[in-house]
Amino acid sequence: MKHIFFTILTVFSSLFLAPGSADAKVRVFACEPEWASLAQSIGGNLVEAYSATHAAQDPHYIRARPSLIAKMRRADLIICSGAGLEEGWLPVLLQKAGNTKAQHGGPNFLLAANLVPLLETPVTLDRSMGDMHAQGNPHVHLNPHNIPPIATAIVERLKVIDGANLTTYEQNYETFLARWIAATSRWESEASDLKGRRIVTHHKSWTYLIDWLELKLVNTLEPKPGIPPNSSHLEQLLAQVNEAPVLAIVRSPYAPDQGSKWLSGKTGIPEAILPFTVGGEDEVTDLFSLFERTLDIFDGAVDAKS
Ligand SMILES: [Zn+2]
Repeated sequence: MKHIFFTILTVFSSLFLAPGSADAKVRVFACEPEWASLAQSIGGNLVEAYSATHAAQDPHYIRARPSLIAKMRRADLIICSGAGLEEGWLPVLLQKAGNTKAQHGGPNFLLAANLVPLLETPVTLDRSMGDMHAQGNPHVHLNPHNIPPIATAIVERLKVIDGANLTTYEQNYETFLARWIAATSRWESEASDLKGRRIVTHHKSWTYLIDWLELKLVNTLEPKPGIPPNSSHLEQLLAQVNEAPVLAIVRSPYAPDQGSKWLSGKTGIPEAILPFTVGGEDEVTDLFSLFERTLDIFDGAVDAKS
């Protein structure tokens, strides 16, 4: 009797907790905070978005720990950057989770890098960008023009997964998009004096931001993505830096600081720790504040120079 009761209870709960019912939320598993935030913006309170990594973690390297496997197993939709960014941990996670709803290559598995123009794609298969960015640069979220196509893909999937709330998803998406387009054009007019400024970065995390703002990358502290700075590369970088003024030495909150501290000490060029993603600073709570804060930090560097 007890057994039957629990069976009925389970069936009853699953009926009422399926996506689309009043109480259930669509579970989004994002590999990085930027995609969790974007999915939450579009899904609102109909979606529960979870990020496998936080802003203080290098998304290239995390461990496929049991709690992540459990989260992935229950996901209705998976969103990752792709282009090899999660190569070290996502395949293991997918395999161990065995999620039949959201599988690699299926409609409920989105890779942002497949939805936008990729930069630094290899011309030849010589691995000139090292092993870490062998398929092109995967850090696609830092050009605001890359956000709308990814938002579109997310809303299309949410409408299918949870058709009962289709109208709400469409409205949320339209609201987000209108606000995003207005913000992008405001940021572009505010940031016009950054054009042509030279920066040094630790890792090629900022390629899309540099491309968007028309900054000039002098060089990275890493000789190749994922390879730590070494003395011969740093000496070469020092010579390049001394050719013309440099606005800042940029790194993410999780990047090692020895290289940028060394270069800053030698040259007096300020270091700039940019938030990189949502949660990179306490006040960076969504994609809007991510770009606003990033531009504020650059503006501060420009003001300090003049
Ligand atoms: Zn990278």
